[in-house]
Amino acid sequence: MHATDQASRSRRSVATSQTARALNRDILLRTIHRSQPVSRADLARLTGLQPSTVSAITEQLIDEGWVTPGAMGRLPRGRRPTFMMLNDQHVTLAIDMRPGKANLALVDINGKILARKTIDYELSAGLSVEEAKIVIAQIAQTARSLKAAFADRVFHGLGVSVSGRVNRKTHRLIFSPNVQWSRIDLYGELQKFFEDPIEMENAATACLFSERWFGDFRDASNILVVSISEGIGAGLLIDGRVARGHDDMAGEFGHMTLDESGPKCGCGNSGCWEVFASNRAGLRYYHELAPESTITTFQELLDRAKAGDLRALRSIDKMISYLARGLSMLVAGLSPEVIIVVGDCTALWPRIRPLIESQLIAKSFTPHTPSVVAAMDGDVARLRGAAAMVLRKVLFGKADFVPHVAREHMPRKTEAAPA
Ligand SMILES: [Zn+2]
Repeated sequence: MHATDQASRSRRSVATSQTARALNRDILLRTIHRSQPVSRADLARLTGLQPSTVSAITEQLIDEGWVTPGAMGRLPRGRRPTFMMLNDQHVTLAIDMRPGKANLALVDINGKILARKTIDYELSAGLSVEEAKIVIAQIAQTARSLKAAFADRVFHGLGVSVSGRVNRKTHRLIFSPNVQWSRIDLYGELQKFFEDPIEMENAATACLFSERWFGDFRDASNILVVSISEGIGAGLLIDGRVARGHDDMAGEFGHMTLDESGPKCGCGNSGCWEVFASNRAGLRYYHELAPESTITTFQELLDRAKAGDLRALRSIDKMISYLARGLSMLVAGLSPEVIIVVGDCTALWPRIRPLIESQLIAKSFTPHTPSVVAAMDGDVARLRGAAAMVLRKVLFGKADFVPHVAREHMPRKTEAAPA
């Protein structure tokens, strides 16, 4: 019995030390990702780990190829520190499926876009399944040629951002009222062309990953991303976790009813938020003010607004006023620290930001209103987000948790694994 006890104790202690080492490796990798370029001394200071532990695990990460020693730092005296970086040899493919076009990119582990392509397609309501499959095949072939052009890099998989919600168990698009992709098995079709892992996610949630992985909001725990295009979608980070909801449907605020007597929505209801505040709403307001106008795209409306067309400006102001009205409800219910606006309308950000902020302040019942920022390039945000979905899984193996080193999770120095 005694021997068995000893063996089990020894097994437990091996497991504990392996677990601690794996945990410390994760913490160091996250800290390098968040603070790079960063010296070993700063890594010890930021993580609370022993310098010897930091050195040993950093060496391991360099040997594994995840981390690369970069430039030498400068100090008044003593040894010059080497700054650690994530190794940009690691790359992933990103595809952003939008109504009418797909953007493709090869993105490295630090968010740099190495190459980009766009494929335009017709996606009418009457599109047959076979026609849709031909479009997917064309996109996949282009993606493969991008990958082949960087064959010297370490490739990790394919991230796909789509308008609509994705059921993470079946990988099927379950709600996509403005696009026809839900009729085919998009994930299954792409799998025919790639042996590598595929991650598929809603576009607004992808933008959330982009901000958390590559952007300025790596430390924020409560973020609301609102993506405005043909519809309105949202990605939610609540208390450090991506909110998914039952059936992965959380975030469809675009279909909150603002006015039941309003226009019909693609979801089947009437008067949803998105029929008042999406790009299509902006265009509709313009045609009401300028019935003689023949413009058909939101980009044309933006161009007119930029040129000083008063009716175009009034249409966009009306759309943004409705946008702000919905946002004030979300702020009351979710209390985000920051709202990130993604969409073509951000081209007029100096005009629309005060419109949103003034309404949020007017409706607020607390002294703090969230900061409102624009994702400067929505296309880039979606592509980098699609890449981040793959990379976080490769690096940390967790399906859903956005890496975050919380102080309470940092091991005390006495708990650090032996070097
Ligand atoms: Zn709706």
